[in-house]
Amino acid sequence: MPDDMARPLIHDRVEAGGSRHLEASMSDSPVIGIMGTGDFSRSLARRLVSSGYQVVVGSRNPKHSEAFFPEEAEVTSQVEAASQAALVFLAVYPEHHSTLLELKPSLAGKTLVDVSNGLRINHDGPSNAEQLADMFPESDVVKGFNTISAWALQRGPRDASRQIFLCSNSSTAKSSVTQLCRRMGFVPVDMGLLSSSLEIENLPLSLFPSWRIPILCTLFLFILFYLYNFLRDVLQPYVTAGKSVFYKMPIDTVNVTLPSVALVMLALVYLPGLCAAFFQLWSGTKYNRFPNWLDRWLACRKQFGLCSFLCAALHAIYSLSLPMRKSARFKLLLAVRQMKEGDEVWVEEEVWRMELYVSAGIMALGLLSLLAVTSLPSVADSVNWREFTFIQSTVGYCALSMATVHTLLYGWDRAFDPVQYRFMLPPTFMLVLVLPCVALLGRLALCVPSVARRLQRIRRGWEKTRHIRFRLPEDNCRNILDDVSNV
Ligand code: NAP
Repeated sequence: MPDDMARPLIHDRVEAGGSRHLEASMSDSPVIGIMGTGDFSRSLARRLVSSGYQVVVGSRNPKHSEAFFPEEAEVTSQVEAASQAALVFLAVYPEHHSTLLELKPSLAGKTLVDVSNGLRINHDGPSNAEQLADMFPESDVVKGFNTISAWALQRGPRDASRQIFLCSNSSTAKSSVTQLCRRMGFVPVDMGLLSSSLEIENLPLSLFPSWRIPILCTLFLFILFYLYNFLRDVLQPYVTAGKSVFYKMPIDTVNVTLPSVALVMLALVYLPGLCAAFFQLWSGTKYNRFPNWLDRWLACRKQFGLCSFLCAALHAIYSLSLPMRKSARFKLLLAVRQMKEGDEVWVEEEVWRMELYVSAGIMALGLLSLLAVTSLPSVADSVNWREFTFIQSTVGYCALSMATVHTLLYGWDRAFDPVQYRFMLPPTFMLVLVLPCVALLGRLALCVPSVARRLQRIRRGWEKTRHIRFRLPEDNCRNILDDVSNV
């Protein structure tokens, strides 16, 4: 057994006799062809060879490119490669696909794998693969491998993305490429017919498509709250009393801004669900489409939640670093120096407020971490739908409640202190609490039994305008389905 394990999958060309030609005895695997000798082709050839395939590479200039390929791969002319291989990868740019037209007779009846990507996102089509299928109507075109970089191919699935998206109009061709993917250690993902190729080609070109709105929203809120806090905490003392506290800008102001953003973003995770529920209650059906803005908002709740988690985690780190600062130590010394005999050092109410405030903050961050962890696909895959919704909804509302309590404890009685209304502006925590309170009150409203019952019926298919009532069979045994519209 150890001898078997030590034996290489493919014998060295020199050991085996020195010819660069494929040896039929080497393996009974199909011969895989690759057109083009660029970066992608080299990585693919290496990976195929190490997976035990016989590889033949077609080049316009085989002599020049031979040295870049493993010994076991044969580098030859395009025509020869096309005629030897049963399955051919086209590792050339799509604008050069037409230069392969002279290979049409040799490629007829064979599977062509189009690995190409476009230069920019294409929403209108046709895709490169569809154009290739038009050019080679006698071959079966499979789209795939374009989402894997040459580097990832070389490293193999240990250290890179494992998924390969495939689509084709020929199920036989797709299944042979699927088998090849598996043998190379990748995970094939069937995307259906060739019409999905546009989507597959756009995949590697998209830049965090579902993150754009949440990130912009986070940045917008951060700038808004930062300026608001700067105005109240830094500019106001300078303008009214000539007191320079600009040192607060890098840490203090940021640390008051981050929790504000975190709380508002967390409220924004739960508000679209409430909007959807009230929309369904109002329209009396679940079959009416939500407005587009609500659809889009519902689709990026996870990203809103993760942005909220990031701000909350940063707030925790900033808060822990507060006592380390020189300014904090100077302030403490100053307070001690300014203390007079008989001054109260231990203020019971302040102590309790702080203990509760910190505790609620830690709980909120802990619950938020749980939400963030369960939003990871690998973790979400390990829980069932009921467990997932329990964590994301029930635990999520607990996190929102804890974060709201944390903010209320921070505010304590400051809302009633006129000194807090600098430049006539209310303290930040008051503004920040508006959306979370709306979300929590909205959730409570949906818990009212009559409302909850109606919503449950709507979500099970009941409609206000087309209510079907089942009646027990009458004496004459007629089974009647009564349409009692508008009941
Ligand atoms: P590359 O390094 O520029 O190689 C392209 C190859 O195409 C050349 O080496 C050339 O080989 C061949 N070719 C055939 N006909 C040609 C012609 N008329 N003009 C110029 N070259 C011609 O490109 P690549 O990075 O390997 O990418 C190849 C394809 O793979 C592209 O469609 C790309 O979108 C796709 N892809 C690449 C990656 C990646 O990480 N590089 C990832 C995913 C997908 P000969 O001179 O030997 O004929």
